[in-house]
Amino acid sequence: MKKTILSGVRPSARPHIGNYFGAMKQFVDMQYDKDFDGADKYFAIVDLHTLDANKGEAMRQASIDIALDYLAIGIDPKISNIFLQSYTSYHPELAMIFSYLVTVPYLMRGHLYKDAEAKGKEVIAGTFLYPVLMAADILMYDATHVPVGIDNKQHLEITREIARKFNHEYNVEYFKEPKEYMISEVQLVPGIDGKKMSKSYGNHIPLFSTREEIEKLVKKIVTDSGSDIPENVYAIHKLVRDEKELKDIYEENKGKYKILKDILIGDLDNFIRPFREKREELSKNMDYVYEVLKQGNEKTKQIAQMRMGEIKKICGLGM
Ligand code: AMP
Repeated sequence: MKKTILSGVRPSARPHIGNYFGAMKQFVDMQYDKDFDGADKYFAIVDLHTLDANKGEAMRQASIDIALDYLAIGIDPKISNIFLQSYTSYHPELAMIFSYLVTVPYLMRGHLYKDAEAKGKEVIAGTFLYPVLMAADILMYDATHVPVGIDNKQHLEITREIARKFNHEYNVEYFKEPKEYMISEVQLVPGIDGKKMSKSYGNHIPLFSTREEIEKLVKKIVTDSGSDIPENVYAIHKLVRDEKELKDIYEENKGKYKILKDILIGDLDNFIRPFREKREELSKNMDYVYEVLKQGNEKTKQIAQMRMGEIKKICGLGM
């Protein structure tokens, strides 16, 4: 079976180390994984999923920033396609078709909707329909493997349900059921307050932080005085340093939170610096970044156009 990898990142704010370890690192690693030799690889900048966070020029800039981020972490345009979700109107068109396959009570179980509702605000329809648009992003390209963080597991279940429903209602075997692709040791990456690291909670460590930012953020990590090992410091530390080494370090420095935080600052900076420098270098050649995006956009446009032609025919839409 032909394998196709697809995933995306929202251009809502700068990506953080939770995005990297939860999902983006897999984008890079899968490029060199023998299991995915010959697989098509697509990494989207999912701007339509972000209309609530950015407006106008800020949105365009944030999208370009994600293209730079992708290249800086090691996505190789000779192997993978980087593209902008809104480059064509095919994704929302497919999402509209899919919205007729799922019920409101079913979507009300979605975690994004539930989280938004729990905040006591009126939930925008875009948030409610987020999983439907995500299903369109994935099924458009017949993706078989979707590298995402564990918080997206439910969205993949909804995507499979939509694929099954479409095939059943139209009596076809058109859509394949995609699998999430997660690294089991990396569950949810916690933020500096111990809760899920998230751009919207303001508890995140940006992936391209400067040394000064790292210092400031690590100093703010909440430490619980009840234990010799500061749990929240360790949870972030183990992402960037071997746990065997950490065992000795934390044993030697039991209860010495300041020393442990200083070691974490150094380790995080060593880890982030090469990404930061690569990004800086790439930002001096924006023509290259735009060219990469142009090629990815054109390639995915052709596929989406062809697939939407087939899908609309199945649905009896268009002439
Ligand atoms: P976003 O662009 O916010 O949708 O996130 C991009 C990817 O990062 C998605 O696959 C998310 O599942 C993943 N992700 C976001 N936050 C975390 C976290 N704290 N830990 C692990 N993965 C995450």
